[in-house]
Amino acid sequence: MRNRPKENAPPAGAPRNVELLKDAERLRDEVWELRETIAGLNGILDSRRDVVFRVDDTGTITFANTRFGAVTGIEPQAAIGLPAARCLETIGLSWPLERAGPKADHDGRMPVKTVAGRRWFDWEVIPWRGDGPAALAFHIIGRDVTESKRLEDASTKARAQAEAENAAKSHFLATMSHEIRTPLNGILGMAGLLLKTRLSAEQTTYARALKSSGEGLLRLIDDILDFSKIEAGRLELEKEPVDIRHLVRSIVELLSSRADEKSLGFAWRVVPDVPETVDADPVRLRQIIVNLVGNALKFTETRGVAVSVSTQKDMMEIRVQDTGPGIPQGAAGRIFNDFEQADNGLARKHGGAGLGLAISKRLAEALDGDLTVESEPGHGAVFRLVLPLNGKAAQPCPEKARASGAVIATTSAIEAQTLAGILHDHGVDTAVIAQDDIKEDADFATHAILLADAAAADAILENMGPDAVAATHRAIVMLRPCERDRIERFAKAGFSPYLIRPVRTETLIKAVAGDFDSQGGKMSNLYDDRAVTPTRPPGTTGPRPGNGTSFNILLAEDDPVNALLARALLEREGHEVVVAHNGSEAIDIFSSSDPENFDLVLMDMHMPKVDGLTAARAIRAMASGADVPIVALTANAFAEDRKRCIDAGMNDHLVKPLDEERLHETLNHWVRPRAPKQKAADCEASNPHL
Ligand code: ADP
Repeated sequence: MRNRPKENAPPAGAPRNVELLKDAERLRDEVWELRETIAGLNGILDSRRDVVFRVDDTGTITFANTRFGAVTGIEPQAAIGLPAARCLETIGLSWPLERAGPKADHDGRMPVKTVAGRRWFDWEVIPWRGDGPAALAFHIIGRDVTESKRLEDASTKARAQAEAENAAKSHFLATMSHEIRTPLNGILGMAGLLLKTRLSAEQTTYARALKSSGEGLLRLIDDILDFSKIEAGRLELEKEPVDIRHLVRSIVELLSSRADEKSLGFAWRVVPDVPETVDADPVRLRQIIVNLVGNALKFTETRGVAVSVSTQKDMMEIRVQDTGPGIPQGAAGRIFNDFEQADNGLARKHGGAGLGLAISKRLAEALDGDLTVESEPGHGAVFRLVLPLNGKAAQPCPEKARASGAVIATTSAIEAQTLAGILHDHGVDTAVIAQDDIKEDADFATHAILLADAAAADAILENMGPDAVAATHRAIVMLRPCERDRIERFAKAGFSPYLIRPVRTETLIKAVAGDFDSQGGKMSNLYDDRAVTPTRPPGTTGPRPGNGTSFNILLAEDDPVNALLARALLEREGHEVVVAHNGSEAIDIFSSSDPENFDLVLMDMHMPKVDGLTAARAIRAMASGADVPIVALTANAFAEDRKRCIDAGMNDHLVKPLDEERLHETLNHWVRPRAPKQKAADCEASNPHL
């Protein structure tokens, strides 16, 4: 503190009252110190970036700091004695401050028209009461929060935008799922109907391939929906015993038509020490393997693909190996990222979204395992899915094939090696001979059993002659389904039995062991259902017997293929069907029919003119429609879609692609058989909309 300057000394000889003078001196010191203290405190307040001022109980400003002057444009000294209302008016505020007052103790954020432009301030009004009950003054502190408000606003906007984008994404996924499911319903349903007609073996194979490809596509749609679930952290995993042999076999056979199209070798092997079942999520496990095998077949143009399952300590390894282009250097890590492809040129050629491996990797990790790849560019790729061997069941004892030795002659080394591995697992020593080595002087004599694919069998017959086949203990030919028409030729040349590729382990072992019916020297079909040609016997293509009751059904469906399919399925069960092509027609038909005419309404959701929900509400509102069961038959597969249907007064929700069994169950669940009534066909005939 500065020292107070001394007053001039009293003139000599003046009357002196020493005590009085001392008191006056002390008081002057105290007043001076007080002024110094106030100046110091004001200095502190002036140095603040906050606006600080004080208003007495009459609304007059009694103090204002420098920042007050900078914000209002009124000099702090000039503001003292002015009404607060007048000063604050210049910056767009009023007195008392809005949301403030003697009782107010919360912050109020308000925009302020400062000298430097519009700013946002948080205001704090602190009532100061002194000793009495009434407020004597208010201390007001204003803090400039323009920057933090800008950041908060930006983040609120970003959050709102992200939420809007998420909602748009979900909407897009739901729409896409709907749009793909609709034609897929036609493809799968028609393929299913086709398989129920009388078909040749070849046609059956094609119709089955059509159906299984459609099912694969359906899985893809579900994958995409899964991806969004994984992203949103909403993935739920099951754990149940999975028959890994059956799983791998079904996947390989599902995808085998792709290998056939490219003439690729395709084989699978599950080594005997892999337990019969492992605890895992069957749907997710299947999803990963389908993706890996699908990719291998997609990218491989020559030689082949092999899937093998083995164990390593307490882990199970599923290995998918191919002889494709491999993964370019540096891309191996990247391909597991979302929407990443190793090579754009290749990916464009083959299509794909670059999503499958990203989903598979995340699923593998969610199953406590991992997915990795090893590849030498130009020499194929090996994908390894490693999973814990939970719930290890008793190991099956490998059946011995009771054969001394075999030779495998194929065009695909990878297939031959896999088959040799299977035979080795069953105690058969096997040699592999490449097609190029099948020459006149090649010697099979020391080998008991010959296994050849069609091309190798041709090469043997051509280069070595039928005697070479006759010299073997047994010559087995492995055919693709499309090569069935060659069976007779190979049979005549001494090959028996034949096996369908991709070869099943149990069928191979039976063939090698001679455990089959040779049917008087003819080719045997063994026990492989792919080797036989199950078509319906004549006269069995009509409606399947339901529960013997015929229902009258109003089907509202705008898509002609889906309408045809649903109608065919229903008529096969003996029901009468009236088709409405949109919601408006459905309402008209229902309202113009006899009250008891329809036993059930099947209602699509998306239809032109009037949608299914509106039509359902309209039918429910009619006296005759109050009790009729209305079941949604829709490609809107989400839980919220089901809720919307139920909220609109429907009883149930069937998702496309239509499952025949579920349709059957649903009808029988909702429709109570009634006494004989007027046929829907009568109504159809008289209805102008049909
Ligand atoms: P998609 O195959 O739909 O593009 P994926 O995530 O399944 O998506 O695969 C990502 C990329 O990884 C592919 O585009 C391809 O570049 C590469 N890739 C995957 N599997 C193989 C394979 N077996 N051989 C060669 N490249 C592969």
